[in-house]
Amino acid sequence: MKFFLRFLVFGIIAFSSLESKSQKHCGWEIYYEQNKHQAQFIQKIDELNLLNKQVQHTKTGDEYIIPTVIHVIYKNSVENISVAQIESQIRVINEDFRKRNTDTSIVKPGFSIADSKISFCLAQRDPDGNETDGITRTSTQIDNVCALNSTQYYQLAPAWDTDKYLNIWVCDIDGQTAGYAFPPGIVASIKDGVVVDFTNFGTIGSVVPPYDKGRSATHEIGHWLNLSHPWGNANNNSNCTNDDGVSDTPLQDGPVLACPQNRTSCGSPDMLSNFMGFVDDACMANFTEGQKTRMRNALINGRSELITANGCLPVGIKKVSLLETVELYPNPANEKIMLVVPIEIMTKELEISLYNISGKRLSTQTKSVHKGLEIETNTLASGIYFLNIKSKNEQLIKKFIIQH
Ligand code: ZN
Ligand code: CA
Repeated sequence: MKFFLRFLVFGIIAFSSLESKSQKHCGWEIYYEQNKHQAQFIQKIDELNLLNKQVQHTKTGDEYIIPTVIHVIYKNSVENISVAQIESQIRVINEDFRKRNTDTSIVKPGFSIADSKISFCLAQRDPDGNETDGITRTSTQIDNVCALNSTQYYQLAPAWDTDKYLNIWVCDIDGQTAGYAFPPGIVASIKDGVVVDFTNFGTIGSVVPPYDKGRSATHEIGHWLNLSHPWGNANNNSNCTNDDGVSDTPLQDGPVLACPQNRTSCGSPDMLSNFMGFVDDACMANFTEGQKTRMRNALINGRSELITANGCLPVGIKKVSLLETVELYPNPANEKIMLVVPIEIMTKELEISLYNISGKRLSTQTKSVHKGLEIETNTLASGIYFLNIKSKNEQLIKKFIIQH
């Protein structure tokens, strides 16, 4: 039935104008066109470009793993996609974002192919800390439950804390749109995530060609991490003035569909293989270094809690305490004792209290500890002492001995 609808819609559009088929792919530009006359919206778009210029990510080597929850909303068994189909999608986004996809040979020489060092896990624990497979399932009788601007899908299947999880709703959009997503801060947190039509999610089961290789999710997560289409946010760029804020994606005059081998616009060859374009799934294969930088800046400046979120950590495994790696030396000590902290908490503020053996507090200091902290101990009598070290969310007691 779905296929018939698509066929019907495509048939009508093809009859009138081939260009209109572009709306089949991504809802972000439709959302942009709907909102571009609102000053507040445009202000936010401008802020997103600033977001990219704020704190530039320096640790290009750090890998970020994003806890991801899939909300399946279905009307029938076809739409209630299998775990295997969901896993096929997780595999694709992990390949695409880590430059592990096997089809990078289709990227034309001279174009950059980046490993974004961003990957995704199906959440292992839910926001309450309970074990989960990272999948929620909700049945509905509503048609087009995930249409752009619908308020239904996120009421039926509420987002998990959008600061700590990537929420992906897989559902029936409208028969024309493969997916949509919002860059950081554009919409209320209750709907801040990615929506992908069940016919375009993963590589097996309910997928329908030519968007059947999992690239819709790759593309939409790109938007969620502040990427635009190479031709900018609007739905065409025939004057070649709109840019995506990324220098190593060439200017392009608008969306390109199907799978052309070569095309030139705005005075240079188009990067048709880019994940942020509209070509068929089998014909896209790369993010660029510039897009990598923009995505990582979005993560660090706009979605920073995702970096430290523990949703990928199986229940039962405690996150390794940073404080547990604090060391005191020498121990036993005489004149002074040194507190050595791991690099991750060097700039964090620590409250350090000194207690004697009978539990009396002798001193407290709050310090941002760089490299280490020296504590004078020459006034302490020989004996056993304790340091109570507190960070924002952990606390640790360390014993040491003074021997004069
Ligand atoms: Zn898009
Ligand atoms: Ca560009």
